[in-house]
Amino acid sequence: MNPTLAIEKIFRLTPPQKQALHKMGIVTIEDLLYHFPTRYGDTHEVKNIESVIKSDEVVIFGRISGLKTSKAFIKKIPMSEGVVTDETGHIKCVWFNQPYIAKMVHDGQLVRVEGKITQRKDELYISNPKIEGVTHLPTGVGDSLFGNDGDEHSLYPVYPESRGVTSHWIYHAVQKIMSGHVLDEIHDPIPTDILEKYNLPNIRTSFIWIHAPKKETDALSARKRFAFQEIFFIQLYKQRERKLWSTQKSFLIETHKKDIDGFISRFPFKPTDSQLHAIESIMSDFQRGYPMSRLLEGDVGSGKTAVAATTVYAVTHTRPEGKDYGNLQTAYMCPTEILAKQHYENFIEFFKHLPIKVGLVTGSECKIFPSKTNPLKPTKISRAQLLKWVANGEVPILIGTHSLIQKSVVFKHLAYVVIDEQHRFGTLQRQKLTTKSDIAPHLLSMTATPIPRTLSLTIYGDLDLTLLEGMPHGRKPIITEIIVPTERENTYEKIKKELVLGRQLYVICPRIDEPDPTKELAVMAKSVTLEAERLKKDVFQKWNIDILHSKMTPAEKESVMKDFELGKTHILVATSVVEVGVNVPNATMIIIEGAERFGLSQLHQLRGRVIRSNHQAFCYVFTESKSQKTKDRLKALTTAKNGFELAEFDLAQRGAGELYGRKQWGISDIAMDALKNIKMVEAARTEAVRLVDNDSSFTQYPAIKQYLDNPANKIHFE
Ligand code: ADP
Ligand code: MG
Repeated sequence: MNPTLAIEKIFRLTPPQKQALHKMGIVTIEDLLYHFPTRYGDTHEVKNIESVIKSDEVVIFGRISGLKTSKAFIKKIPMSEGVVTDETGHIKCVWFNQPYIAKMVHDGQLVRVEGKITQRKDELYISNPKIEGVTHLPTGVGDSLFGNDGDEHSLYPVYPESRGVTSHWIYHAVQKIMSGHVLDEIHDPIPTDILEKYNLPNIRTSFIWIHAPKKETDALSARKRFAFQEIFFIQLYKQRERKLWSTQKSFLIETHKKDIDGFISRFPFKPTDSQLHAIESIMSDFQRGYPMSRLLEGDVGSGKTAVAATTVYAVTHTRPEGKDYGNLQTAYMCPTEILAKQHYENFIEFFKHLPIKVGLVTGSECKIFPSKTNPLKPTKISRAQLLKWVANGEVPILIGTHSLIQKSVVFKHLAYVVIDEQHRFGTLQRQKLTTKSDIAPHLLSMTATPIPRTLSLTIYGDLDLTLLEGMPHGRKPIITEIIVPTERENTYEKIKKELVLGRQLYVICPRIDEPDPTKELAVMAKSVTLEAERLKKDVFQKWNIDILHSKMTPAEKESVMKDFELGKTHILVATSVVEVGVNVPNATMIIIEGAERFGLSQLHQLRGRVIRSNHQAFCYVFTESKSQKTKDRLKALTTAKNGFELAEFDLAQRGAGELYGRKQWGISDIAMDALKNIKMVEAARTEAVRLVDNDSSFTQYPAIKQYLDNPANKIHFE
């Protein structure tokens, strides 16, 4: 049996099954083998009905009968019930609010029922159990189910399901496939010496151990191997990219220390050591002759823009090769129009003393600095005119949004690409910008997403990392307080005192776990509106309150932000999903409602909104949670040094699932879990680097090449 064979060639599938498998991304036999259980139920839970007792969590196999739907006598909620019978007895099953259950199975069908035994008066029953139809009863129910030898302790795999395909179905399908010879035909993509070095099981054993483990430790070894495999291949992919990138030619940038120092000395502040160090690293990359590819990671407010501006200066200060006039060009891409405009204004400040034109291109307008009539101000111009100047090489610095990557934007000497908040862009968008010229430009990506080191090493394996540590001098740390319900009123009073002094406030409404994601934004908009009304009516009657949420149009958002910036609005109630207040130095307070629902790193991100001021800033973390553990977790916000520390804390305490922004990385759950294991991640990286260094086309490793080039394994993270 060939592992690449389509699964419908082996099994006769009903249309709903086909659809479900498609939804889960399972097309071939191999896909099915890579569909791993999320957990294992102990088969000892499988009980004969006569032996169950109250509070048992059980799995029962039997025949269902007496299915009916009615209204429960108490609150008139719809209720379904039925009776399951095996050789030893029968037990009632009851479902509340799930009238469709009675339609999913039919009288007389063999079923697997899983749930908790409950007692009412003298009768035992199972309330809201999981139920699924099965094709045959397992042999020897009540004894060990899968190991008929009796002494072996077997585990029952539980798979992720989708409507139409149950865990049970997957179990049998996988078992059927594995009983053929398919495992003999799968080549292990990990070289044997690496498996031996790290004591990992080979692929054949791993598939058996993950789908039909005899003991928990086998299942764990198999998971570890597959996690290693995934991270190893991400690394191989990234290291191959890195190698390719480094074989390209790039611009040599002049870095005259005196000029650079002069540029820095005009800043209204003294740069931190960390900023100077970052500038140095970039400058030395500029002189290697092949393109830089560096990620600058630093908390919100750590001063990344100054680092970028200084290095942009070095680029504009360099003449195109063989010319004694003109400048090399920089493209500076920002994720939103608000940010692009803000940076545009910053850059005008940085460059206004130099004969350097600075352009702005966004979806709605184009500008050029300086204006012909006023050398200190920018002016609006047509897009066509701006792009013409850019193509001529007359505009050394072009700042913009996604508009920058459009085909119509052509540079003459694009030498440097800066991407702000790079996590907001896809890999493809970044590639488009870096392939705009024949000679590869230097690339600086910047991010404030606090992620743990293991994750950076994995998803940014092709980049050099620079960390901006600490905050600029003299910055007052934000006073963060965890507010329990009894302290709510007091806190509002404290806030009013600051409002009287002219400060402003953000109120972030809680994350909403709306079961229907298409409705999520609407529900959030509603909660923002309601909270704003409540605050106006009951708390902050004297102040102007406005709202901001993602259901609003860009024009509406912009006008709300403008009013807030101008101080016309005092309090801005917003959802956590909108980028609030890019830079409103006077907004020194933030309330975060329902804080227990956020990960620490996300709370930290939100808190970053009030860091941009010389006034003392306050963050009030409101929680209704009574759990001491939650309160302890939130406490970390008051003690951790920076966002990266908090991300590590989140990873350790709550697991990879809670990492900020995880959805976009597209790493499997199994590999996300492995991120707790720095040794494994480092090992995968070391091996990948070694391998690519020796043999970047993988001629000695056909299995690796095949795996990397197989579109099904396309690494699509980020
Ligand atoms: P981010 O890293 O979030 O992009 P910014 O570059 O926007 O941060 O900097 C935040 C604020 O800190 C800006 O107002 C900037 O002028 C200021 N700043 C940057 N570096 C320093 C420094 N070394 N000392 C004092 N203030 C600084
Ligand atoms: Mg920034």
